[in-house]
Amino acid sequence: MFKGIENLFQVPNPNPPESLVQAMTVAHLPTALTDSILFTGDVFVEKKALLMEEGRIIDLVANDKVPPSFQQFSCGNHILAPAFIDCQVNGGGNVLLNTTPTCEGILAIAAAHKRTGTTRLLPTCITDTLETMDAAIKATRQARAQDSSILGIHLEGPHISVEKKGTHNAAFIRPMNDQDLAAYHAQDDEIFMITLAPEQVTPDQIAQLVAQGVIVSLGHSQANADQVRAALTAGAKGFTHLFNAMPPMSGREPSLAAIALDHAPSYASLIGDTIHVAPEMMRLAARAKDNLFLVSDAMPPTGAEKPEPFTLCGLKASSNGQACTNEKGGLCGASLTLGECVPRCIRDVRLDPEMVLRMAATLPAAFLGLGHRFGKLLPTYAADIVMLDHSFKTQKVWQDGKERFHHAHAL
Ligand SMILES: [Zn+2]
Repeated sequence: MFKGIENLFQVPNPNPPESLVQAMTVAHLPTALTDSILFTGDVFVEKKALLMEEGRIIDLVANDKVPPSFQQFSCGNHILAPAFIDCQVNGGGNVLLNTTPTCEGILAIAAAHKRTGTTRLLPTCITDTLETMDAAIKATRQARAQDSSILGIHLEGPHISVEKKGTHNAAFIRPMNDQDLAAYHAQDDEIFMITLAPEQVTPDQIAQLVAQGVIVSLGHSQANADQVRAALTAGAKGFTHLFNAMPPMSGREPSLAAIALDHAPSYASLIGDTIHVAPEMMRLAARAKDNLFLVSDAMPPTGAEKPEPFTLCGLKASSNGQACTNEKGGLCGASLTLGECVPRCIRDVRLDPEMVLRMAATLPAAFLGLGHRFGKLLPTYAADIVMLDHSFKTQKVWQDGKERFHHAHAL
């Protein structure tokens, strides 16, 4: 625990000094971010300046040891942390990937999330027609070429359990055939993630997907323990939105959720809005599992200046400013970005700030196999940085060393 951090909430939400509002760093110059409380991804350190050049962090030095060739930006004792990485983004900026599976749609979604500190994400397409899911894969590849914040795609379905489908459309849920198997593969260095139910596929199919570079995550499932263990042995790497769309845990029937908590090498995502999972369950999960990370599960109203109602799987849905419900009253996704989840997890769930910041950046990076490039503020890492006030609210965002957002103005 960082010694000064428990006092942070006692500090009134500070309005950054005028000099901070006006200070804009010039992207191509080597830059030193000074006077911060800096979270490296492992520990908080004080009195360090972060040096960045050409999109990468090159060193952390004492504030008074900044080389003269570096332009300096004073963080005014704000917090610097690794920028957020979101593995489950259905939408944002009033755009839903499933209904707008286009390059432009994905770029709009990414822009809406970037404002609050998400500099890397996986657009997520839920169970849909073959054509829509194929279009989402292609559009993601186009968007990646224009915006490096898009790491790849997350297909959530269609090979999931009808009984645990949640808001997904049952008409499009199906077993995995050879044609599907051939279509799911990672190209170049993209991330290709799929959430599936172990009872809808064979262990051989999971092994084949993993061999094709696909990250397999288990979810929307009521698989029994043997099926889950077989999927993990075949190469499944994690579990999707722990507790949601999973059977409850019971003494003699460890469901997906209990195995996820018990199986230390695997990862599990947790929707971070503090609504999809009760704070008590979030705390229990955080105590039980090291490899636990946050996702937003964000829907179109997320990050939108004027959130609008939308249609999901044929049902009208809207946000109350925090989570989305459809016309039947069913919970159908969140409307908070990861950057908006972080303060809630610290303030309302009372998780340690170090843990929450790791869950929003360091651990998703590790889950994606990108833990050597993203999720830490250390030399050689991408200069993906958020500046947070003492309530952990995002104030400023850098991606690859370039300033992407500054207070209320998207850049
Ligand atoms: Zn889901």
